[in-house]
Amino acid sequence: MLRIINNPFYFIIRAFEELYPDKTRVVIQFVDMEHIDKESIDETGYGLTFFPDEENEPVHVYVDIKLQVKDAAEILAHELAHVAVGAEADHNELWEKSFDDIYKRSQNMYEQSLKSSPFEDIQLKSYSTTELLTELHARVTQKNFSEAI
Ligand SMILES: [Zn+2]
Repeated sequence: MLRIINNPFYFIIRAFEELYPDKTRVVIQFVDMEHIDKESIDETGYGLTFFPDEENEPVHVYVDIKLQVKDAAEILAHELAHVAVGAEADHNELWEKSFDDIYKRSQNMYEQSLKSSPFEDIQLKSYSTTELLTELHARVTQKNFSEAI
């Protein structure tokens, strides 16, 4: 498996997967929120969780691509907490706990990864999300993966 060692999105998704192994059908997209119907957007203004009518359809999570990585990572955790507790929970205590669980677990993983990593921390968190996704794409499309990561 190819992974960028200090990509905060990776740790958010892994924390979510570990905490909620039964929630397997989630589609995550980074989009320009200006193209999303304003009434649907989460109160943060930067994300959206769309629960489908059909139970076997995937939940869709949208995160604003124009945010910096550290902010987009927090929004991703926010939206995944909605996925974890369901649409009805809104931002109740259950949702708050889920957000804290996902976010703190991912932060711990991130910090552990930096400690044990022989690679230099290139501060991906200060990148814009567009830059990070472009960087990931560039690395994945390079011929020699092991040199790229
Ligand atoms: Zn929300």
